[in-house]
Amino acid sequence: MKKIIPFVSGCDEDATKLWLEHLQEQISEYQVILFENLTQEEKLSANIAIVANPNPKDIAQLKNLKWIQSLWAGVEKLLQELPQACFKIVRMTDPQLAKTMAESVLAWSLYIHKDMPLYLKQQKQRLWKQHVEVLPEERNILILGLGKLGKKSAEKLKENGFNVSGWARSKKSIDRVNTYYGNEGLNEALIKADIVVCLLPLTNETRNLLNKEKLDLLHKKASIINFARGAIIDYKCLLEKLDKKELSHAVLDVFDVEPLPSNSSLWENENITILPHISAPTNMKSASKIASKNICEYFEKGIIPDFVDTKKGY
Ligand code: NAP
Repeated sequence: MKKIIPFVSGCDEDATKLWLEHLQEQISEYQVILFENLTQEEKLSANIAIVANPNPKDIAQLKNLKWIQSLWAGVEKLLQELPQACFKIVRMTDPQLAKTMAESVLAWSLYIHKDMPLYLKQQKQRLWKQHVEVLPEERNILILGLGKLGKKSAEKLKENGFNVSGWARSKKSIDRVNTYYGNEGLNEALIKADIVVCLLPLTNETRNLLNKEKLDLLHKKASIINFARGAIIDYKCLLEKLDKKELSHAVLDVFDVEPLPSNSSLWENENITILPHISAPTNMKSASKIASKNICEYFEKGIIPDFVDTKKGY
């Protein structure tokens, strides 16, 4: 009989069904079974589970887990909901996801670089006015977070001629990218930035990182792109600064509460572009392949993939 891999899903019925199909297709050596359909014996014999927005109460019934494979790249919710977990948490690190994110970072950086929000406003006013063209190499784009997504995005921007810098927790060396670390490094990098792209994980250290003090370091023509998590930036302060013309534009893909409530004042602001968390959606096929590889390596060689450092929070 095939070994059983529980799939604990809090996604809606359609998404759960699709995930199950993709996972089962890729993980053909084992039988992927939805948590709701497991027997008590199967729950107790599981060493691994695949999870997508799982209910912590379901996870608690899988008492012999060694590790769980999350289908998402961000794991702050899992860490918050499973603080006492005695198993490892493996997040989704998929090269396809990094590629998709790098494309989004390039696309929305070009949107700001090419003054598209301004020309959109002008069209609404039937205003024919040309603005001075800035060359990509004259545009400083700062990426906050140089992990799987940030590094790939920095490289993509570099390929397209931008002047790129990056900030991370530890010192980094990336070809033709100015890198910074630490609080002073962040201050220095923010002062010089024209576009700031946030690709940090949400942790105790990054929550509200871009507060008033940090946002005040940016020059008034600077713009922000947040593709990470809403709580990393003080949106109230950001909104005030945009209204006072102390910042130029913000592209926001992530929010504290999602979907963004229809009565949020962010919707109405012409200096904000709102996206419904689409900068890098998980690709079911490629993510299922990664999950399959990780699970097979564990059963064949006993290798647990790189897991989240619960102290660091990512
Ligand atoms: P990652 O590989 O873990 O990289 C995280 C980066 O952030 C690393 O460079 C790390 O520095 C840096 N960092 C973490 N804490 C820091 C701190 N306190 N100060 C300075 N730098 C810090 O993560 P990833 O795969 O690139 O993903 C980043 C985030 O993107 C995810 O956590 C998720 O929230 C978000 N995401 C969003 C979407 C979307 O559709 N909007 C999709 C996927 C992911 P070190 O390298 O020095 O450790």
